[in-house]
Amino acid sequence: MEQEKTYFPLFQQTQRRLASWYVGIISIVLIILGFGVYEAIIHAHQITIEKELKTIAGTLHDSFEPMLDQPGILEDEVIQLMPNLCRVNNPCISKNNLSNYRLGAIEKGQYYLHLFDLSGNLVAFNGQQPKGLPIEKHQKQQEILKDSQQKRYLQISYMLHNRKGENWGYLQVVRSLEDFDNYLKNVAIILLLGLPLAILLIGASAWILTGLTMKPVSQSYRQIQQFTGDAAHELRTPLAAIRATVESHLMSSTLTEKEAKETLSILGRQTQRLSILVADLLMLSRLDWQLTSNSINIKYEKICLNNLISDVLEELASLAISLDVLLQADIRVNYPLEILGNTEQIYRLLFNLVVNGIQYTSKGGKVIIILERNNKLAIIKVKDTGIGINSQALKHIFERFYRVDQGRSRKEGGSGLGLSIAQAIAEAHHGKIEVRSEVNKGSLFILQLPINV
Ligand code: ADP
Repeated sequence: MEQEKTYFPLFQQTQRRLASWYVGIISIVLIILGFGVYEAIIHAHQITIEKELKTIAGTLHDSFEPMLDQPGILEDEVIQLMPNLCRVNNPCISKNNLSNYRLGAIEKGQYYLHLFDLSGNLVAFNGQQPKGLPIEKHQKQQEILKDSQQKRYLQISYMLHNRKGENWGYLQVVRSLEDFDNYLKNVAIILLLGLPLAILLIGASAWILTGLTMKPVSQSYRQIQQFTGDAAHELRTPLAAIRATVESHLMSSTLTEKEAKETLSILGRQTQRLSILVADLLMLSRLDWQLTSNSINIKYEKICLNNLISDVLEELASLAISLDVLLQADIRVNYPLEILGNTEQIYRLLFNLVVNGIQYTSKGGKVIIILERNNKLAIIKVKDTGIGINSQALKHIFERFYRVDQGRSRKEGGSGLGLSIAQAIAEAHHGKIEVRSEVNKGSLFILQLPINV
């Protein structure tokens, strides 16, 4: 328990670290992506606006040129075409009936038109001009300007020629970028609010996901800790008995032959217990490896279950007789039932179930091994009329080192690993073990193994 508490923060720390890395990486990707999308939107809109402005400026240029005569002097025809156009120092006639739909765009209030003579003096302009927008001939053909309110405008200038092909002056079309800038502002707000929100959501889901990932790791870590503690405890008991026996006899100066034999027999029993325990632990660790490595390197052979049951029966007959328990087999198939598997392991599985049946059955009781077939499954049932297992304990009997009655199991030489080994072997062979039991009436262990020959 102590150790569990000590190591728990380690998993929390790992979970925190994993979640932070996850959030960090995804956030960087999202920010780069958001920035990229923002830039792409700016670029796409800029191109569209420039194209639109160039089309309008080009149309005006092409419409004006055939009407122009003397350089710097604006002909009436031009004013008729663009009624909104005002000569400098002349009152404007405002009409909104432009027939040409492209030129009509000029009237929408977003566009401003300026005509300059060759010396750069303003000749004419259209409508109400934005406050603070510099109206002068600029050197560059295309330029971004700002008015007194820092609103932006895109301006395009073209050279105008008269119908004789002589230089007349300059045409300048300016478009307000207010709608574009407002749109960009909205996109930026959405990104600035959306990104932290997305990062928050990612953080929460990263915490939940890493928690789910860490859960089985921390569970198996706890199981390993529990297992190591239990194994050490089991090993300590026979070792302590050996040590106590040796120390007590070392202190006495003489040892009779009877005492020496007794001592050796105690040592023999305890070392036997140790060897069984070590062998069981080794078997479990091999089975764990077999289960996790998906049995790739395990060689399976044909096993005749009828023969295997006979062998187990033969080996345990003397134990059953010594405990006054009737041991029987009931083979319900009239042919050799074969499966593919590891003979040694399947033998061990069956041996453990039958040994338990005998050991946990009182004198005069009965243990029957039944072999039958159900479609593609070989079924072996081990039924006894023994002490049974209560429903609470039934949930735990396949756990490593679990015993319902510590004293009785130890006395029988049990390590509490028999059923966990049996279950691991069944799982390694893609089978399963089920158990039904009633206290003082007996237990029924049902082993199902796939017939895969
Ligand atoms: P053990 O070495 O103690 O027999 P197992 O893993 O084989 O360990 O069994 C775990 C526990 O399940 C036993 O200690 C015993 O209490 C209970 N058990 C197993 N088989 C039987 C059975 N046939 N009848 C009653 N109790 C049983």
